[in-house]
Amino acid sequence: MKKINLHTHTTFCDGKNTPEEMVLGAIEKGFDVLGFSVHAPMQPKNDWALPVENLPAYRAEIRRLQKKYAGRIEIRDGIELDRDYVDVDPRSFDYAIGAVHQLNCGGRFYDVDYTPELLQSCCEKEFGGDFLKLAEQYYSTLSDFILAAPVQIVAHFDLIEKFNAQNDLFDSDDPAYQSLALRHMDRILDAKPDITFEVNTGAMFRVGNPHPYPAPFLLRHLKARGANLIITSDAHCVEALDFAFDQVGKLLKEL
Ligand SMILES: [Zn+2]
Ligand SMILES: [Zn+2]
Repeated sequence: MKKINLHTHTTFCDGKNTPEEMVLGAIEKGFDVLGFSVHAPMQPKNDWALPVENLPAYRAEIRRLQKKYAGRIEIRDGIELDRDYVDVDPRSFDYAIGAVHQLNCGGRFYDVDYTPELLQSCCEKEFGGDFLKLAEQYYSTLSDFILAAPVQIVAHFDLIEKFNAQNDLFDSDDPAYQSLALRHMDRILDAKPDITFEVNTGAMFRVGNPHPYPAPFLLRHLKARGANLIITSDAHCVEALDFAFDQVGKLLKEL
């Protein structure tokens, strides 16, 4: 089986390593395929997406690396497309990973994966402290976007769980929360049965979460529906390139 990671970031957005360092790291770790998935330029501007003025240099660098390392590793030119992307044509990339990282609450934007404090204050200010209402907005925004956008992969489906491994923010075992998340997962699969869900180890590396996105109850549902799955690490540095791939591969077999 080929060793593949299609979800990686570099210094062109919020990663710590250059694209070439990531390629060399992937070769050393025995990868057959490395896909770059830069955060598409977004509005409003933030400190983690690609600034649009750097897009030409980014694309030239990926093309240069594809040529330079041809025969040693297959480099794919992907993109992580947030719902609020601007100034880029996703169809000009090899593939697009669709994501929602921020909630738009009447023109006030809140990143859901920045800090637990920010997510909590968003919940209090915009949803009267009702996390289920926040979750409904997050999942409906995500499923609307995936249905409408030219994306082949669904990114970190339950990203709002990033800071909730201990159920500090909300009770992720609550049947009301689980049925809400499952409803939007079904909505996506009913409309786009061929889409791929990533099983993303990013928060296992970055904040020590015990399981990937999506959570096990969602993974079980994906398996029951026969959905396409791909393990990714959402790597922002070389060390994260294949983080927990073995562990998550085993989890997927056992579920
Ligand atoms: Zn993301
Ligand atoms: Zn990412």
